[in-house]
Amino acid sequence: MIERTTERREFQLVALDCPSCGAPIAAEGEDVVYYCTACRNGYRFDPEGRRLVAVEVAFVSLPHTSVDLYKPFWLVSARVSIEERLAAGGVFSGLMGFFLGDRSDSLAPVGEGVFAIPAFPGPLDAVTELTRRYTEALPELGERLGERLLGGCYDEADAHKMAHFALIASEVDKPDTLQDLDYDIEFGEMRLLGVPFVRKGETLADAIFDIRI
Ligand SMILES: [Zn+2]
Repeated sequence: MIERTTERREFQLVALDCPSCGAPIAAEGEDVVYYCTACRNGYRFDPEGRRLVAVEVAFVSLPHTSVDLYKPFWLVSARVSIEERLAAGGVFSGLMGFFLGDRSDSLAPVGEGVFAIPAFPGPLDAVTELTRRYTEALPELGERLGERLLGGCYDEADAHKMAHFALIASEVDKPDTLQDLDYDIEFGEMRLLGVPFVRKGETLADAIFDIRI
């Protein structure tokens, strides 16, 4: 792993041995999340403490599908609330509606759930679509252990930003409702989910919704 030091703008190599079992951990240059295939523990790099911090990891189980690789998603617990809603009568059709459920008609709706957010870069529309589809599908997905998990280079702050963006972007067909929307997201615990991808020629697509990155 390569880490930029703040004072001298040099790069410093940090040895990546698993804190639990000592096995070397595979990583790509910009990764900030890691998975030890030897003991099946996951970690994120904590830049302040300059160490690996344990993160729970699971993988989406997809029997009968030939998976080429798994890519990391952040699973972020969140509490979505609407402080004020001036445009009365609007119905949320995207993620806002998913989080608020049948409480979306009440005066100050609050809903709890889990965002599933790609921890890797991609075209914004694909990342937004993946966030929406996997967040909504998460309760139905089976989980398993194992596999390799590489390429997670988005950290907690990036995931929180993406959650805000996806929440609003999935409601863009109701711009008049959103204009006066005063909402809040309270983020909680984070863990990692390995999502199966398949190669499609030069690109990769997720194995469930066929969204190309
Ligand atoms: Zn290990």
